[in-house]
Amino acid sequence: MNCSSCGVRIETQKNWVEFDCPSCWKKKVVRCERCKKLVNTYMCGSCKFIGP
Ligand SMILES: [Zn+2]
Ligand SMILES: [Zn+2]
Repeated sequence: MNCSSCGVRIETQKNWVEFDCPSCWKKKVVRCERCKKLVNTYMCGSCKFIGP
């Protein structure tokens, strides 16, 4: 799996989160610790929702 923001492989990360897209609830969004801290944007692969 890869971070939805920066694409880093989360298998190599310690603290990462996975949550349902807050817009469509169909897709999981994955974020690494760095993107969480920097509040980087992500895009849902299903509905194209951009957020944190
Ligand atoms: Zn990331
Ligand atoms: Zn979505």
